[in-house]
Amino acid sequence: MKGFAMLKIGQTGWITKDAPACGPLDAICKPLALAPCTSDVHTVWAGAIGDRKDMILGHEAVGEVVEVGSMVKDFKPGDKVLVSAITPDWGALAAQGGYSMHSGGMLSGWKFSNFKDGVFGEFFHVNEADANLALLPEGMDLGAACMISDMVPTGFHGAELADIQYGDNVAVIGIGPVGLMSVAAAAIRGAANIYAVGSRKNCADLALEFGANRIINYREGDIVEQILDVNHGEVDRVIVAGGDNDTFDQAIRMLKPGGKIGNVNYLGEGDYVKIPRVEWGCGMGHKQIVGGLMPGGRLRSEKLARLVVANRIHPEKLITHTFHGLENVEPALMLMKDKPKDLIKPCLLYTSPS
Ligand code: NDP
Ligand code: ZN
Repeated sequence: MKGFAMLKIGQTGWITKDAPACGPLDAICKPLALAPCTSDVHTVWAGAIGDRKDMILGHEAVGEVVEVGSMVKDFKPGDKVLVSAITPDWGALAAQGGYSMHSGGMLSGWKFSNFKDGVFGEFFHVNEADANLALLPEGMDLGAACMISDMVPTGFHGAELADIQYGDNVAVIGIGPVGLMSVAAAAIRGAANIYAVGSRKNCADLALEFGANRIINYREGDIVEQILDVNHGEVDRVIVAGGDNDTFDQAIRMLKPGGKIGNVNYLGEGDYVKIPRVEWGCGMGHKQIVGGLMPGGRLRSEKLARLVVANRIHPEKLITHTFHGLENVEPALMLMKDKPKDLIKPCLLYTSPS
């Protein structure tokens, strides 16, 4: 089969491989929709997880099941399915301890385009199909469904990690597609004020639509000063979905003692993050920082899909650029790398190569 791959750090290209084999608990799918991710960009061009040779990229997909293993109970060939970007081993002790994303080792629930070939191929393999796939709800927009792979669950995980409570004042640093879904999640969890930090106009407009009250432009001055000013003091919670290793410095400075920072940003480069000693209460300020990969899994996909079906969230609005056909996965990924001003998220609807 054909697939679009990371050949080595900094280099991508088309390769041909054998189609993946199906284990007894697994499924083989073909893609119906795909989306490239900022994480693919970190993986290839920053070498963020180390070198990978000839590894098919991509972890965001909607699929159609073409084969299932002998022990799969709930899916059959022809089923259209939501595919979570994170596909843990649910029997692992880490998963039993509540950290499915780290089953098999830190970040090892993230298998597509990390430890095995991803979804940018004619076929892809899903481990533990019953636990990691969910049926595509009837009539659901394929673009929205594709966002349930990663953008929605990751953005929502930022709100879970920051432990947003009703009435909280919340800063969301970064309003690309992930941060925009964090804004939506913070609103659903009952935040009072949501300060959304970004600079692109289309992202800012969507942040306001998803529930932000104010846009803070990091290019127009120190965001800590801007947020302390507009909030008349420190915020209760911060979600970090953009920025860099120094962003924690700003997040700590704008946070109340007892506040929580939920980070879902993938730090692609550098050795250390910056935490300001005094503003962190000399180590005693009860300003918690939790960074997490989203948990994955069928239940989560089904619940997030319910929010879409019930019209409470509109992830299809993230999609600013639509491509057709697997052969266009390359320009879609390059768009994600180049991040033109009018981009929020590209999505690719699949048609079989002739
Ligand atoms: P984008 O690049 O589209 O968005 C990044 C956002 O951060 C933009 O709003 C950008 O502003 C803003 N930003 C950039 N620099 C700064 C700065 N110095 N200070 C404040 N804000 C800044 O990324 P995505 O939304 O696609 O992804 C966000 C992160 O989440 C990525 O690192 C991605 O790899 C990661 N991720 C993590 C996952 C997980 O499970 N934890 C899963 C999926 C993705 P501007 O408007 O100027 O562009
Ligand atoms: Zn992703």
